[in-house]
Amino acid sequence: MNHSPWLAQLNRTRPIEPLSQNLSADTIIVGGGIAGISTAFFILTKTTHSVVLLEAGKVAHAATGHNAGQITSYFEKTFTELAERYGIVRTTAAHKAIEEDARILLESIFVQAQLTTPFSQFIGHDGLSREDQVIKYLSDMQKKALAGLRVRPMLVAKEWAGYLTIPHELIPYILVVSQENILSVLETDDTQFIAAIPFLSGCMNSAMFSEELVGYLLSIYPDRFTLCEHTAVSKVVLGKDEVLLHAGINTVTGSQIVLCTNGFESIEISNPHGEDIDTAFHHEVQGVVGYMAGYKEPLTKAPFASIYSHEGMNESNPYFYTTRRPYENGVNSTAYNLTCIGGPEVYLPDRATYDANKEYPMEVSDRIATFASRHYKHSPHMDFYWHGLMGYTKSWVRLVGHERKNRRLLYNLGCNGVGILTSVYGADRIARILNEEILAASIFDPQ
Ligand SMILES: Cc1cc2nc3c(=O)[nH]c(=O)nc-3n(C[C@H](O)[C@H](O)[C@H](O)COP(=O)(O)OP(=O)(O)OC[C@H]3O[C@@H](n4cnc5c(N)ncnc54)[C@H](O)[C@@H]3O)c2cc1C
Repeated sequence: MNHSPWLAQLNRTRPIEPLSQNLSADTIIVGGGIAGISTAFFILTKTTHSVVLLEAGKVAHAATGHNAGQITSYFEKTFTELAERYGIVRTTAAHKAIEEDARILLESIFVQAQLTTPFSQFIGHDGLSREDQVIKYLSDMQKKALAGLRVRPMLVAKEWAGYLTIPHELIPYILVVSQENILSVLETDDTQFIAAIPFLSGCMNSAMFSEELVGYLLSIYPDRFTLCEHTAVSKVVLGKDEVLLHAGINTVTGSQIVLCTNGFESIEISNPHGEDIDTAFHHEVQGVVGYMAGYKEPLTKAPFASIYSHEGMNESNPYFYTTRRPYENGVNSTAYNLTCIGGPEVYLPDRATYDANKEYPMEVSDRIATFASRHYKHSPHMDFYWHGLMGYTKSWVRLVGHERKNRRLLYNLGCNGVGILTSVYGADRIARILNEEILAASIFDPQ
């Protein structure tokens, strides 16, 4: 059972058109999730290239149709960890890029393509339950603030503030409030939470967004844009003067290829005139299956997002997160709020394939029910259970840009668990690279 509320909302009428002849284009995009469709948008709007986009299944039916839909700039490594690896300058630029530029880019797509997909923005909260978490994230906030990034003060419960040993220099980054206030912003009855970090959040059905956007591109660029669904690319040959893709009995040639595949799938990459790319590529991304459940309730509360227990970044001790947004399914149906709960994750063995139709494990639904009853003092009846594949690069940072061993190959992939804004940011960066703009080095550059 894999029943996504986002795919249930799609009202798709477009027929599926697979690749049925050999084609050529300036740029070939592989993958029709939010990364591939946004990359097509920026290439078509910012360059004169023709684009062929090849999608193995249907547009937006992979991770883009199976996520939590939070619009958040969250990095899954702290600022401190990223700065140790990439330096302060690049890490600060990356934070600005995702916290500010990516949101502006997303809004610019909405405006230019006149999209009607619902999109909301609000402040979410990240709940902390231990002193070491409080100190670690305050210290991270201090580094971000010193680098010139905007930080919102951490809310710390006054009932606990006196027991916490907070270094003097971190005091400017806290705001002491009642614990009741903290539990209220986290919408929980669980008194383990002693602090909360506010963050800019939002909600969007990224499948609906991608489907609407691809419709716009097909209607505005009929001469420059071709979409082929149900077209799995099996082999890419990177030649000296062109790239050649094999998909079934047909081929597509182009000047360059952009892989927007979330990092997976069985594409053989041949680089006959240079170093081997295939081996490293197939070991670059770790597959992680993320599980979610959601329930409908009356439309009485505002959109909401929260994260609980910041530290649990492994299988046995997952962090949980919730989002709530208005939800309507079908033209005549009543509008509800849909609250989604996510957290449990399962790591896939190297090169193992993910089965999107795999039964939802009872053990996972039990864990979600346990979380719900601890937080809300009741176990809501779930209307949806779904799972999706996340691709974690070794660095836990998305790859955007040229493959160094052959510049005809570019990537916008390796989503990690928070990839909507980074996909859109990566899409714009790819178009700017193809436009031969000089860009500063970035933490997203493939190493
Ligand atoms: C459970 C879960 C919750 C998440 N929650 C959030 C969240 O709240 N906020 C957030 O920002 N992000 C979230 N994410 C991550 C987010 O969904 C992804 O980062 C984003 O959708 C990635 O988009 P993509 O286009 O890179 O990948 P995908 O949507 O997976 O698209 C890749 C496409 O490539 C195609 N493809 C692959 N191989 C081939 C091939 N050989 N030939 C042709 N096509 C191919 C696939 O069929 C697929 O359609 C979540 C992910 C999951 C799984």
